[in-house]
Amino acid sequence: MASIFTRIIAGEIPGKFVYKDDLVSAFWDIDPKRKVHILIVPNKEIATVSDVTAEDEQTLGRLFTAARKIAEDLGIAESGYRLIINCKKDGGQEVNHIHMHLLGGEPVGPFAPRFKNIEG
Ligand code: AMP
Repeated sequence: MASIFTRIIAGEIPGKFVYKDDLVSAFWDIDPKRKVHILIVPNKEIATVSDVTAEDEQTLGRLFTAARKIAEDLGIAESGYRLIINCKKDGGQEVNHIHMHLLGGEPVGPFAPRFKNIEG
């Protein structure tokens, strides 16, 4: 079954797009965690980072050049932003279609707060 992101890219489900090219698409997260929260998604459905192959290198590189352009277009290139890719259960991945979160527009905060039960 097609992922929810494949269905958004295909126009079957609404998405608020900010970028689209031959390899990747980007749209607003439906539940933004910061003032700017964009998802940048390969048009090709790759489930997780564990599933990438050398053939995907150009597509995955495009996630970054798209991120740079989107940050410029949204006016946050100077203030900065965070790019996150979650992988599988422990990484907090909910949608099995690789996606890069672009978060910014305000301070994003600590990148991985330490859990109380982890000794450090
Ligand atoms: P992750 O936990 O890394 O898999 O992130 C999945 C993200 O997809 C979450 O931030 C969700 O808010 C977002 N999301 C889920 N459904 C949609 C949708 N229909 N349109 C836009 N974003 C979505």
